[in-house]
Amino acid sequence: MRTLEDYTIRLLDLKEGSHRFFIPLRDEFFAAYDNQIYQRGHIDCILDVQRSPAMYILEFHMQGTVQVRCDKCYAPIHLPVEERFRLMVKYSDHIALSSTQTTPNSDEVVVLPTDHVVFDLAPYLREFSILIMPPRNVYECRKNPPYPCDEVVLNLLNNQYDNNRKIDSYPKNNVFAQLLKKQSLHNKH
Ligand SMILES: [Zn+2]
Repeated sequence: MRTLEDYTIRLLDLKEGSHRFFIPLRDEFFAAYDNQIYQRGHIDCILDVQRSPAMYILEFHMQGTVQVRCDKCYAPIHLPVEERFRLMVKYSDHIALSSTQTTPNSDEVVVLPTDHVVFDLAPYLREFSILIMPPRNVYECRKNPPYPCDEVVLNLLNNQYDNNRKIDSYPKNNVFAQLLKKQSLHNKH
């Protein structure tokens, strides 16, 4: 079993050019962070690091599935997720160690002191594994048999929807439809 200390990278040791790393994120990673959205998942992360004289560009390509409840029928599903994230890292002598790695933010350049040898990816991976979630936990599950959704609940929801539509379109509830009816009766006389 991996511990969270395993999600570190020694950027300063990398030569100029590009480097690729494979970071598997499994149940213990999500569980260790007490992730409120999901506790279990299987996400593969390919990390490409481009080192130039000025900075490091870290590109994360994350792809896999997370175990959540379907928002429609509440059945447990393996929701497919995929996203790319980018992080820029710079080293500077003019920064105190205490101000580093406190607020993960992929929009900003992370500035580290030159003696900060071990860069901890875990807070960023955690942030990305939350950002990767789609707005709703539903997907075209019928494309991936066996169909995981709860058919009983889905059928009940569909019937409910159909009944609501019938009530809505029933002329008795529609003043305009009643007026039209009266008008047509009137014209007949
Ligand atoms: Zn469902």
